[in-house]
Amino acid sequence: MAELHLKSVEKTYGNGFKAVHGIDLEVAEGEFMVLVGPSGCAKSTTLRMIAGLETISGGEIHIGDKIVNDLVPGKRGIAMVFQNYALYPHMKVRRNLSFGLKLKRQPKDQIEAATNEVSGVLQIEELLDRLPKQLSGGQAQRVALGRALIKAPEVFLFDEPLSNLDAKLRASMRVRITDLHKRLRAEGRPATVVYVTHDQVEAMTMGDRICVMKDGHIMQVADPETLYERPANAFVAGFIGMPEMNLVPAVFTPGDAPVLELHGQRITVDHGLSERVKNVTGNVTLGIRPQQLQVVKSGTDNAFTAEITNLEFMGHEVNLHARIGDADFVAVIPSERFDNTLNRGDQVGLKPIGSHIHLFDADSGANISIASN
Ligand code: ADP
Ligand code: MG
Repeated sequence: MAELHLKSVEKTYGNGFKAVHGIDLEVAEGEFMVLVGPSGCAKSTTLRMIAGLETISGGEIHIGDKIVNDLVPGKRGIAMVFQNYALYPHMKVRRNLSFGLKLKRQPKDQIEAATNEVSGVLQIEELLDRLPKQLSGGQAQRVALGRALIKAPEVFLFDEPLSNLDAKLRASMRVRITDLHKRLRAEGRPATVVYVTHDQVEAMTMGDRICVMKDGHIMQVADPETLYERPANAFVAGFIGMPEMNLVPAVFTPGDAPVLELHGQRITVDHGLSERVKNVTGNVTLGIRPQQLQVVKSGTDNAFTAEITNLEFMGHEVNLHARIGDADFVAVIPSERFDNTLNRGDQVGLKPIGSHIHLFDADSGANISIASN
């Protein structure tokens, strides 16, 4: 196993389109790194450059102590699992698993032992004599995983491997893959993983760290908690978390009693915010998570007055949508604390919890409310 290091890696496609703009990323040995971002942000391009399936237009890729820029995929010590499984349709599962080792001319008994071990780990023993077309989606994905695992690669690459599965199966495969990663780590055979997804739930639950991408740039690399608590910019803040963080233009006046102004309404927030926000005054983007926006009676001190536009009853909680001028907000309220007399069109107070307020630069989107540390 080995660490992976991308240094100023760029990609310009043949048609002149620059898909990747000089990215730097270090994945430690045994680390589970997730690349996440909206469709088209260059996750697959980045992964395919690591794999050697796509040339690199600039920069260096290191796997372990080797620069692999000019190595063919087969020499890079990687194994890749794709969304569409890419199993050989005419081969039974057993041969699909063992084929890579056969190509490497490993002795027969070793191949058999490896096939048995991997099929045990992934619980696919009963599938060994089937053809891919006789497998369900989840079974086929386990075989695809087995085919990567059996190679004992330096680095595992996954490109949206669960996207074709239904929600329930996706959830169980998620756990299966992270369990396997933990198990390999515990056995002293840590697996370095780069896992691409556009699904923030996969990213947050699977990654040791997460690399959030946008338009071929890295927006932030951090562990799940840091991404959620201290997003580096408004893009990450809006991308991570459900429902999305409320992000609206506001005016901030710092001081002992800092003031936030929104559509002519001014509220005072607790002093701690001024401590976290140095040298900022004027136009900002206010960010507050729906879970951290209190709904209070209209007219309550230091709450914005808003009109309810929609109520979504989710079972254990209620999503309350409300509008202040043309700014839309969502607040999540635990069902047992929801006031059932509230209706669409009613006025309520919205009170951001001071310690959870984020402020972003109105132009660059950079988070200006994180204490520098
Ligand atoms: P993602 O996997 O994040 O959805 P991709 O890496 O597939 O994104 O694509 C990144 C960008 O590069 C997109 O704008 C896509 O249209 C473009 N792109 C991908 N492949 C090619 C190609 N072969 N030629 C030109 N542009 C490409
Ligand atoms: Mg992709």
